[in-house]
Amino acid sequence: MPDDRLIRAEGLIRSIPDYPEPGVLFRDITPLLADADALRATIDAMIEPFAGTFDVVAGIEARGFLLAGAVAIAAGVGLVPIRKAGKLPRPAASVDYALEYGTATIEAHDDIRPGMRLLLVDDVLATGGTLQAAHALVAELGGTVVGTSVLMELDALGGRAVVGDVHTVFGA
Ligand code: AMP
Repeated sequence: MPDDRLIRAEGLIRSIPDYPEPGVLFRDITPLLADADALRATIDAMIEPFAGTFDVVAGIEARGFLLAGAVAIAAGVGLVPIRKAGKLPRPAASVDYALEYGTATIEAHDDIRPGMRLLLVDDVLATGGTLQAAHALVAELGGTVVGTSVLMELDALGGRAVVGDVHTVFGA
């Protein structure tokens, strides 16, 4: 049976045309985050398939951080940040990946340790490039990704084929 709170939560995601550049339909999750019931239902749904299987949540900068902290507290585990280049004081690993125009880099500290079981968390799955790079980053540090949980998947962009198994709460 569909969860009424999740149906309401999905309705709170705002679509903003032409942001941050022309042609992009930006999915703004801030109205959902501002609503206590919607936030709680969404966080529970992000955790549900993976409950008890992970030691730490890896949140992806920047909007992934907003969800990852809540996921970590609700699941009773810790949190590690996966950040854009130059933001961490002592990165131990970095991975470059392709964007539509140019490249980007993500980095992590060695608080991701060999054998650690991680749940990757982000807000939106688009082309899948960011999450694919996050998988590589965790692998470089010897960690194991036990699951990937994303609030919203943009089906038309094909990210699922790139990232593989990913749990998404909402599609579009
Ligand atoms: P990608 O690597 O193409 O899957 O892009 C995913 C990353 O870009 C996520 O961290 C999202 O926060 C952000 N992103 C990509 N497309 C959108 C969109 N239409 N609305 C909001 N965020 C997006």
